[in-house]
Amino acid sequence: MAVKLDVEKCLLCGSCIEECPSDALSLEDEIAIVDDDLCVECGLCVEVCPSEALSLD
Ligand code: SF4
Ligand code: SF4
Repeated sequence: MAVKLDVEKCLLCGSCIEECPSDALSLEDEIAIVDDDLCVECGLCVEVCPSEALSLD
């Protein structure tokens, strides 16, 4: 499992970054990115994303 981020759906709102307990998400060069090594797959970012840009699979 890993969090996937669809950059075309991302609104750069920052909600997922605030919610992530392990600082796995960040905004770089106006693109949100997920660090797979830090992600604990809690799913919180998927729940808060307003545009369904994030998914766990
Ligand atoms: S699933 Fe959890 S740990 Fe992983 S990026 Fe989302 S909020 Fe962070
Ligand atoms: S919550 Fe969704 S739309 Fe907002 S920055 Fe994160 S991935 Fe992008």
